[in-house]
Amino acid sequence: MAELFTTLHCEPCASCRFEAWQHVVYGRLRWEEQQYCPASGVQACDGGWGPPPPRVRERIVAAEGTVRLAAGGPDGVPLKAVRALYGLTLPELRAARRTGLAATPVEARLLRAP
Ligand SMILES: [Zn+2]
Repeated sequence: MAELFTTLHCEPCASCRFEAWQHVVYGRLRWEEQQYCPASGVQACDGGWGPPPPRVRERIVAAEGTVRLAAGGPDGVPLKAVRALYGLTLPELRAARRTGLAATPVEARLLRAP
């Protein structure tokens, strides 16, 4: 029986173009990433629920920037929502409360939603 080998994903090269974004689906955070390589013709997409992996988040932040949010207190977004969204440990949550959060615009919109 002949074996068929197919390459589904190329290693990113200098020609690869990436696009990453976030959106909210039924009140939950979702991220999407598209890769297109004009050199090899490869096109791939990826996505998932919750905060994006660091490499995807970097692209989103590079494209959209971040919003500084206060966490907790009368003017801040609820700590419970922050913890649920980012899966923070208690020390991380305390740090967020002290320094605020650098949220992406979509995360900020979700955290501010009532
Ligand atoms: Zn490529």
